[in-house]
Amino acid sequence: MQKNIKNIDKLVFGRGSFDQLESILSSRPEDEGGYRIFLVDHYFKGKELESRLPARPVDHVQFIDVDPAEPTTDQIDGLRDEILNSRGLPSSVTGIGGGSILDIAKALSLMFTNEGSSTRYQGLNLIQRPGVYHVGVPTISGTGAEVSTTAVLTGPEKKLGLKCDWTVFNQVVLDPELIASVPMDKWFYTGMDTYIHCIESEQGSLNNAFSHAYAEESLKLCREIFLCQGAGKKPENDDKLMVASLMGGLSLSYSEVGVCHALSYGLSKILGEKHCYANCLAFQHLGDYYPEGVSEFQQMMNKQGIALPQGLSKGWSEEEMMAMSRVAYNLPHMWLHAAGTGWKDKITPDSIYSLYQRF
Ligand code: NAD
Ligand code: ZN
Repeated sequence: MQKNIKNIDKLVFGRGSFDQLESILSSRPEDEGGYRIFLVDHYFKGKELESRLPARPVDHVQFIDVDPAEPTTDQIDGLRDEILNSRGLPSSVTGIGGGSILDIAKALSLMFTNEGSSTRYQGLNLIQRPGVYHVGVPTISGTGAEVSTTAVLTGPEKKLGLKCDWTVFNQVVLDPELIASVPMDKWFYTGMDTYIHCIESEQGSLNNAFSHAYAEESLKLCREIFLCQGAGKKPENDDKLMVASLMGGLSLSYSEVGVCHALSYGLSKILGEKHCYANCLAFQHLGDYYPEGVSEFQQMMNKQGIALPQGLSKGWSEEEMMAMSRVAYNLPHMWLHAAGTGWKDKITPDSIYSLYQRF
């Protein structure tokens, strides 16, 4: 069976496109008489963007601090209950922020119309009903959350997405002006998530001409942004990074991620490390799996003056490392892609434990 993937309904790209949000929202008949929800990264509280939000007095604007933890099932359930009890069903949900806010917007949209706790729906196609119309406006680029069919949530049992066709945004607004203020370190780590998506997508059994084409173009853009002459944090590279992130996301959607993402999930679930940073921590140690990718990643780090901590595993307990190994092992789709159909003969919780010992 080949993957048959739902894509974003509508997408606008370009500088200043954020200001089209009002006409996008008001063009829907449901908008009149309803109320809009805006979930905005708290970085923008009091900033110029706040005054540009197309929020009417009736609408609900909520600023959310996404640091340090990744979105959780409790957070989504709490937000849903609070808003439903006080305001009822909204006509739209717009998320303005990074991967965390985009995932919160997707998950909230679905949980408005699906009963009970979001923990019930962590997995593939468990959601019963379509969510509320939802819009994604990325303000930091690299995760590909703007295009993906999943809203990643950390629950008591697992870090796993609400994954189905209805998760995908109805509308995405890609305005490169919004990512200009991202600090250097976050710009690099989040951008590297895209780079790693492409390297992992390319190197595995599920890669195909379609995922390859997106990965190849996204990798070319990543090199221009982070490595080649003209690399660095500047407006023309912000345009490229938004496109690279989208294409990297499309590449992995039609292929799969691999060893680095499996290890990264363990780091996020057990130690609370953020996804993109956790990927960077892991990727540097995977030269035997991805030799060219890791070597180029190191050149990009040198070029951009980024250093990653070493010797981390000395500070981890055996229980933590075993727990991380179990989380990573429990992602069979990633191992199948990275190591092929016989992956269970090669990959065990013990062999993953020894990978964490490299950190
Ligand atoms: P984030 O949303 O976690 O934000 C990172 C930081 O950047 C925050 O401190 C935020 O305040 C700040 N920030 C955002 N925009 C800014 C701006 N314009 N200027 C200044 N600061 C800004 O960032 P992320 O790395 O994009 O997202 C990570 C999350 O994405 C994780 O929760 C991960 O699980 C999720 N993720 C989801 C998918 C998916 O397919 N759904 C894929 C990969 C990662
Ligand atoms: Zn990723």
